[in-house]
Amino acid sequence: MIRNTRGSLIRPDALPETASSPVVTPLSPSVVYASDTPDMLDDQYEGHVQGYTYSREGHPNADVVAQHIDRMEGAPHLGIVTASGMAAVSAVLMGLLKAGDHVIGGNRLYGRSLRMMTEDLPRLGIETTLVDAGDAQAVQAAIRPETKLILIEVVSNPTLRVADVSCIAQLSQKAGILLAVDNTFTTPKAFQPYAYGADIVIHSITKLLAGHSDVLLGYASARDATLNDRLRTFAVTAGLTPSAFDCWLAERGMLSFDLRFERAQSNAAALADHLAGLPGVTRVIYPGRADHPDIERSTDLLGENACNMVSFEIAGGRDAANAFTRAAHGISFAPTLGDVGTTLSHPASSSHRALSPEDRAAIEITEGYFRVSVGIEDIDALKSAFTTAAAAAAQSA
Ligand SMILES: *Cc1c(COP(=O)(O)O)cnc(C)c1O
Repeated sequence: MIRNTRGSLIRPDALPETASSPVVTPLSPSVVYASDTPDMLDDQYEGHVQGYTYSREGHPNADVVAQHIDRMEGAPHLGIVTASGMAAVSAVLMGLLKAGDHVIGGNRLYGRSLRMMTEDLPRLGIETTLVDAGDAQAVQAAIRPETKLILIEVVSNPTLRVADVSCIAQLSQKAGILLAVDNTFTTPKAFQPYAYGADIVIHSITKLLAGHSDVLLGYASARDATLNDRLRTFAVTAGLTPSAFDCWLAERGMLSFDLRFERAQSNAAALADHLAGLPGVTRVIYPGRADHPDIERSTDLLGENACNMVSFEIAGGRDAANAFTRAAHGISFAPTLGDVGTTLSHPASSSHRALSPEDRAAIEITEGYFRVSVGIEDIDALKSAFTTAAAAAAQSA
């Protein structure tokens, strides 16, 4: 319990007495922390004693969330929790790189990460190359003497292709290049980047880890202590710090993460098979299905954990897509993922709307292409909602 004994001329000098302790992590919204003496403050800043000073620099609720994810990821140092997943990506790219460096990124990264690669880093004098993370040879070919970092995601969005993480980890290690893995889609339950030789792990906690679409939060940590410190220093300087309440909500969400993930994943596997049998559905992409193009790599990296994302395509173009979302009762048509409830997204009108139809077609995203983030609902209700939607789409086509 954090007691408020300073500033007692204006605030109570003690909280109500209790011999017991709270079961739930206390919410600590205090921005400032009072210390005893200048000597003690010295000791805090020098790291001789642990103590919070100003919440942008760190606070208990953020550290509780960091510890939770550190444990799941096997992170060797206290990770950094940030105000969003993109803040974590920014901390890694802007906190560790400098003008003249070169970065390689997967060409199917999360949209804003891609934008940072193509717009912001070049503006700051950092050159970038995007390559297919499923093709380790292409990654190898993109390496230059000044390449400092490779950023990949394990499962691509929304195409659900699986990156060649083992080979990329080997070649980055050999070349002395940092490998950063955004583990948002896969979660530490399905994949642990550090065990595969990654140097940096990134999460959008917003998605599956927090799981309820009520907080934006991110996480980053590095294997190397110095790099981890640099990440923290940049995050603090840039003010990427999360609010205590968001951390508190995220912690609450993470307590049920394992159960939600298991349920969502088994629902996804069942829904993928169900979709494959529906009229008008021309293609189903699920990394756990035998017909997935990367099934061997998926099994190798993820084992039984093919995660909760399913993509599929229906015949009939935009009209059929409109009919599908209209008839998918109880399923939110919303461009997010990892919520307790199933959400449906349509890349051609959202995440990939800036691409020309030709460029979209090149990555197999058509007007009939949907991505589903499968939630924890009753599977029969889910199947039924998709059956109805597919029938409506087929009728309109
Ligand atoms: C959502 C997402 C992000 C960004 O996270 P926010 O919390 O929305 O800022 C980054 N990477 C991946 C893979 C994501 O899905």
